[in-house]
Amino acid sequence: MISNKKIYKHNFMLPNKLKSILSDINEVIKHKNIIVYLVGGCVRDLLLGLENLDLDFVTLDDGLNFAKMVHKRMGGKLTVHNNFRTGSINLGNRINIDIVTARKEYYEEPGKLPKVEFGSLLDDLIRRDFTMNTLLLDFKNLDNPIIYDYFDGVSDLYNKKIRVLHDNSFIDDPTRIYRAVRFTCRYNFEIEDNTLKLINKALKNNVLTSVSEDRLFTEIIKGIKERNSYKVLKKYDEFNLFSFISNTMFINNVIIDKFNNLEQINKIKKGYKFPQISDTEVKIMILFHNLKEKELQNLLEKLSLKKDTKKKLLELKENYGKTLNILSKPNLSSYELYKTLNKKTYEEILYYLIMNYNDNIIRSRIYQYTTNFKNKKLLIDGKDIKDLGVKEGPIYKKILDIMLKETLNNNLNTKEKQLKVLKEVIKNNERSDYND
Ligand code: ATP
Repeated sequence: MISNKKIYKHNFMLPNKLKSILSDINEVIKHKNIIVYLVGGCVRDLLLGLENLDLDFVTLDDGLNFAKMVHKRMGGKLTVHNNFRTGSINLGNRINIDIVTARKEYYEEPGKLPKVEFGSLLDDLIRRDFTMNTLLLDFKNLDNPIIYDYFDGVSDLYNKKIRVLHDNSFIDDPTRIYRAVRFTCRYNFEIEDNTLKLINKALKNNVLTSVSEDRLFTEIIKGIKERNSYKVLKKYDEFNLFSFISNTMFINNVIIDKFNNLEQINKIKKGYKFPQISDTEVKIMILFHNLKEKELQNLLEKLSLKKDTKKKLLELKENYGKTLNILSKPNLSSYELYKTLNKKTYEEILYYLIMNYNDNIIRSRIYQYTTNFKNKKLLIDGKDIKDLGVKEGPIYKKILDIMLKETLNNNLNTKEKQLKVLKEVIKNNERSDYND
């Protein structure tokens, strides 16, 4: 049921960055009869006092032409979607603009993507997930912006309630269940009673089986990208939302605990000299920790991750136990430690660290590697050995191994220093050959 439009004029101020972008948009539409509103997540976050520069605009005019005009004025990188006359502009500095032509959506089959046609502003709002995401901001007057609220979204927002717009919402698009859970964790909101009933009913009717594993996985990824992702995981699991992408996938306290660790470990990462790396990749590794090799392989076949990523994940699974055994060996030499970790990415090493954070030996070995060895490199090669007159053969490998050990244990950080030691190594080697 559509309530009457409510107008909120009350005292909210636009933050400067947003105001300046909207002022540019106003310049673009000046003297033209274009109707455009800001809509969705950025308006919701504006009322919550949170910065969100992922700006969604909706217009009754041609969204794509409008996006081209905005791009001409503001620059950035334009992406066009001809089908729905939509354009996106990435302005850098985490500022994104999306301009859509108001549209109407029909769900012909539950769980499948909707059919889309152009529609009215209200059509465009009705297709949305929750009342708090249906607010329109009219910014023609930047000092007195107005919010149009058709579904009591403002009141839900201030009462911290997540509410769907109609009873069929989760049948039309079951991925909204993941979205609802994510929003509860992000904002500390509650799912409103009827909406919760609808979620439980939809789950009981197995609506999620009609959605591809890949789409569900995308929602899971969005969840693990949240700042308090361990809370999201816990909540997803309470609703049993993992079982739909793989019936062997389960989340236990260990995994949740590791996600929690990861958030704290960001502080520790500095001490371990980790560079800026993708936590999401590490989180995916942790998420798959409980899966056996074959189970992971089956799941990966259904997901549209990059081929390379899949290969890496499978190799990691295959080598995990073996690597751990080596890392826990008493008297592990620097050389063995280096050889074990040097082909692994920082993300993988961080994964080993997090999964074994309570193990003093493994922790100290990773520390030794990342702070001492990671940047040490052999700067000489076979050609340098040849130049010193050594006949080619298996001896080259032996010499290079000795050189790597020397490099790890001593500060041989220039080619000059390494060549000096190389000469000694060759000399000693000739001497020992002679003795043999
Ligand atoms: P976030 O802050 O996580 O990006 P958002 O609300 O901005 O949250 P987007 O995924 O960027 O989410 O979507 C923009 C808007 O599109 C939402 O505010 C909502 O109105 C609408 N929307 C997104 N996904 C759905 C969906 N599955 N069903 C209905 N409406 C949706």
